[in-house]
Amino acid sequence: MPSKDYYKVLGVEKSATQDQIKSAYRKLAKQYHPDLHPGDEVAAEKFKEVNEAYSVVGDEEKRARYDRGEYDTSGMGGGGFNPFGGGGFSASGFDDIFDIFSDMFGGGSRRSAQQSAVGEDINHRVTLTFMESVLGCKKTINFSRLEKCSTCNGTGAKSEAHTKVCDKCGGSGQVRRVVNSLFGQQISIGACDKCGGTGRIVTEHCKTCGGRGVQSKNKVITVTIPAGVENGSVLQLSGEGHAPRSGKNGRNGNLLLVISVQPSKLFKRENNDLFVEVPVAYSTAVLGGEVEIPAPNGVFVHKIAEGTPNGETLRFRGRGVQTSRGYAGDLYATLKVEVPRGISRSQRKALEEFEREMSVRSYPKKKDYLDEIAKLYKKD
Ligand SMILES: [Zn+2]
Ligand SMILES: [Zn+2]
Repeated sequence: MPSKDYYKVLGVEKSATQDQIKSAYRKLAKQYHPDLHPGDEVAAEKFKEVNEAYSVVGDEEKRARYDRGEYDTSGMGGGGFNPFGGGGFSASGFDDIFDIFSDMFGGGSRRSAQQSAVGEDINHRVTLTFMESVLGCKKTINFSRLEKCSTCNGTGAKSEAHTKVCDKCGGSGQVRRVVNSLFGQQISIGACDKCGGTGRIVTEHCKTCGGRGVQSKNKVITVTIPAGVENGSVLQLSGEGHAPRSGKNGRNGNLLLVISVQPSKLFKRENNDLFVEVPVAYSTAVLGGEVEIPAPNGVFVHKIAEGTPNGETLRFRGRGVQTSRGYAGDLYATLKVEVPRGISRSQRKALEEFEREMSVRSYPKKKDYLDEIAKLYKKD
């Protein structure tokens, strides 16, 4: 038998539905939430217990194992259990918790209180040749971004002496806010808007950055573009974007590489399939022979049969785009018989002779066609 009765913790019957469990959890989580009981260890312990219980019986698969007595609860609930760290949660359980908290605090103020400022993202266009996009490549990216000012180290102040303690938050960088939510008035803690969470106010600005705490710098990075990227796809490089402004602590935004692929004269691409039109000499189509077909990993020679018709499409499995994730598309080669132009008198003579020896069976389609026409205008 499990050592802890999670149903009892949540105050529900063992037969409770998932909705009833969620609703009970919601009520208790709200009741014991640490933001509402700062410094209250009993409430904190209770909150932990409730979260632990919900992380198991709130998840149908875990609940089933728990009900069968197969869920090991001994490892849970130790000091390391942290509902915000995600350690003890499946991805779905974790989302669930945040669902509930955004309800509770009218839009996730709990999260904003925990998060520090984030810099803006940078969009940067990268142009690739068709083959670079198919095979992947290394690209040197040259861009400018806001970085922490090196003179003031991001504080925006001329020096430490040119700052004072923020009068709004008393230097803590945090302020309590009353939020009206579904459950009535709630108190939440968020970053102080006056000092941006730093706890200090600048009295004289840094000359280098004018108090912004950031300065624009040129940056050169080398990026590996994975094989198979498509026109319009976006690669995200986390933390390579702008630093947060106004001297706030926090993390950089992201660098978003918007991929622009130059069209190919040979290939058309659809998902991971490639399409190519292969001109074939009239005589090769008649006699059979070799044609050269381009593929991402090089050109290859393919033998076509005698009497290959114009427009025939050959499919080469796995010879299309091979993505870095291991998907491989096919290559479709459509044969286009090319009719020779500007032939010489002797060639004409030879061809005429050649055609004279043809029987009606040599051109079955033409024969059918002429027969149909004859029927159409036949008079009795
Ligand atoms: Zn500065
Ligand atoms: Zn402040």
